[in-house]
Amino acid sequence: MHNNIPAKIRSEDIVRLTRELVRIPSPNPPGLESEVSDFLASKMKAIGFKVQSYEVSPGRPNVVGHLRFGSGGKRLMFNGHLDVVPIGDRSLWDEDPYSGILKDGRVYGRGTADMKGGIASIIVAAKALADSSSDLHGDLIFAGVVDEESHGSGSKRIVKEEYKADMVVIGEPTDKKICIAHKGNMWLEITTQGTAEHSSQVRVGKSANAIYRMVKIVSLLEEMLPGLQEIQDDRVGNPTISVGTIEGGTKPNVVPDVCKIVVDRRMLPGEDPKKVLEELKARILPVIMPEFDAAFKILIAREGAQISPDEEIVKIASKSIMEALKIPPEIGGLGATTDMSFFVRAGIPTIIYGPGSIKQAHVANEFIDVDELTNATKVYAAIAANTFSKSSR
Ligand SMILES: [Zn+2]
Repeated sequence: MHNNIPAKIRSEDIVRLTRELVRIPSPNPPGLESEVSDFLASKMKAIGFKVQSYEVSPGRPNVVGHLRFGSGGKRLMFNGHLDVVPIGDRSLWDEDPYSGILKDGRVYGRGTADMKGGIASIIVAAKALADSSSDLHGDLIFAGVVDEESHGSGSKRIVKEEYKADMVVIGEPTDKKICIAHKGNMWLEITTQGTAEHSSQVRVGKSANAIYRMVKIVSLLEEMLPGLQEIQDDRVGNPTISVGTIEGGTKPNVVPDVCKIVVDRRMLPGEDPKKVLEELKARILPVIMPEFDAAFKILIAREGAQISPDEEIVKIASKSIMEALKIPPEIGGLGATTDMSFFVRAGIPTIIYGPGSIKQAHVANEFIDVDELTNATKVYAAIAANTFSKSSR
């Protein structure tokens, strides 16, 4: 039906835009998305999008473009986050992480896979549709959001605004799969208190060492993993728990009065962070008390999400993969946490589908295959064309 659209998609255009985006650093923390946001605004205007930008927090603007086809029709939103994680240890990178170098059929650099390549694919697909003469009806929305890599404040704001999308496609890397579920995560800070004194004065039963106290809690947390591994979800696997950081003490000769850890607990779709915390306390507190108490504070809580495989967007995406790539679609889930949950909780059916692999996210020498970019762009164009074609209205 829309055979003229994929023919308009050229790998060079996607590669060029991916490289341009990678060359504008947008690390979070601290959250420097404004330059890439402005750049995308001008790119979209040139294609014919109506563009709005607004700050989610000072200096951190979401950018939203609308591309109108015909009259009526569905409202399809593509969502991509503008931020990237910091480069980490520069010495682990073979090339400048922000150079976007093209080598052996791959583009290298921070954000190539997660997820400036996905954004480039969406924009080039939208241009191919805008340039086509197909009879299409609907509203293609691109939401470029800030802050996905920490609190998701960009997409939270999008859900509150008046875009009222009928369905959403998030362009995070999914290893060719249509993901209809993802895990949630909770960062939980636990603090133990002790009493500071000179280390030469310690006495059994009298001294209170905050690190010793924390060690007991850490062992209890470690013992929770086997039980969690037994809980299996078909799409996203099992919940996990891991102690990521520990901090305590000031000097070797002072008994530490404070120790803090941060626990990363990955949750299945449907798990409630508050209940997870209650279960965790119920496991820990009876063992440590009355000897000592501990304080628990949720730093980040982002729920998992899932939708039914029978949703229209899943069917449209499946059909589009068949048409555009001539391969059978694979439906799965993502272990990582994404902005999908905000949209699903607002009642908007949402899938995650995007070029590249999640294994390339957050690592040194991050890359994306040019073939992956080209294929995802063709699929995005087909998803939009199928959503906006008269037959599917
Ligand atoms: Zn991402």
